[in-house]
Amino acid sequence: MADIQIDKQLCDGCGDCVKACPMEIFLLKEEKATAINVETCMDCELCEVGCPNLAIKVTG
Ligand code: SF4
Ligand code: SF4
Repeated sequence: MADIQIDKQLCDGCGDCVKACPMEIFLLKEEKATAINVETCMDCELCEVGCPNLAIKVTG
């Protein structure tokens, strides 16, 4: 299963990951990205590539 790390210091709440993820794993909470239902992640890395602040790391 993929592990999704979000660096909350780098995240500015732009919402690009929410739009990029085909599995709807991201939501914004208090203007920071949060990952839910991580077990449905397909490891496509669209979120990591699409984050303008390099705040997301997908491993696994
Ligand atoms: S794309 Fe990056 S900066 Fe934008 S909300 Fe997601 S984690 Fe935060
Ligand atoms: S790797 Fe793909 S499926 Fe997994 S959280 Fe990122 S965009 Fe969503």
